[in-house]
Amino acid sequence: MNLNTVYPMNEVTMAADLVDVNAVEEGLRVVSSPGLTAENVNVYYGDIQALQDVSINIYSKQITALIGPSGCGKSTFLRCLNRMNDVVDGCRITGNITLNGEDIYASDVDVVELRGRIGMVFQKPNPFPKSIFENIAYGPKIHGLAEHRSDLEECVVTSLQKAGLFEEVKDRMHQPATGLSGGQQQRLCIARAIAINPEVLLMDEPCSALDPIATGKVEDLMWELKENYSIVIVTHSMQQAARVSQRTGFFHLGDLVEVDSTENIFQNPVDSRTRDYITGRFG
Ligand code: ADP
Repeated sequence: MNLNTVYPMNEVTMAADLVDVNAVEEGLRVVSSPGLTAENVNVYYGDIQALQDVSINIYSKQITALIGPSGCGKSTFLRCLNRMNDVVDGCRITGNITLNGEDIYASDVDVVELRGRIGMVFQKPNPFPKSIFENIAYGPKIHGLAEHRSDLEECVVTSLQKAGLFEEVKDRMHQPATGLSGGQQQRLCIARAIAINPEVLLMDEPCSALDPIATGKVEDLMWELKENYSIVIVTHSMQQAARVSQRTGFFHLGDLVEVDSTENIFQNPVDSRTRDYITGRFG
């Protein structure tokens, strides 16, 4: 099977093969230094272990895709990265996760502030039952990022512009966000996440509730956002991972089997489980 035909990649994805000598990781070709690092992460739900010994570097200004069959632990791992599992009863995590060298699980970490630095976009768009303006303004207000009303207004407009939504909503800023289409709501949620200047954006199957046109818009947006943020996306679509990401990690039964440039994962995987998955033998 010619995997290049099955998983077409764009030129920039291929360009991720460029080696940055300052950031060489054994066996990997990467273009920037790691911002977020996980080492030997284990996750348990009660007595059941959902992740075993997961270690990965998430590089800044790149999109990292996490793929694998349903139930293999992708979302569990994503939720570890901004401590969303803290609120899951019976969930226990061991290992280390650092953001720019700081332990995100240290006892003195302010979790609200952390989730501002590592924002999250969910599978189903979840705007607050408030106006479009208030949805975006909420984060900067609680994080104390806008001193005056004019700062807040500027932040709302800029965030909507960055999310490619401003032109579509500029005449209805004070109408309920729930009146937007699903694709617009998802871009609003992305605008809401970037309004508080995160370093990392986590996206858990952000397009699975969207039609192909809305999916295309969110993918284009991710492509632009990666210039300024690290993005980690969980996706069940291997085509999407091949289209948007520069690095891909393959999970199977709670193990991170392999992580490499997206090109290598889809065209020359090392592990037979990865090859079997991307060639459709299971999943
Ligand atoms: P994926 O995102 O790859 O579909 P998940 O991370 O959702 O996988 O799930 C990994 C494993 O952890 C599955 O066996 C799932 O049933 C289990 N799991 C996920 N969330 C919970 C939870 N809140 N409580 C108990 N088990 C869970």
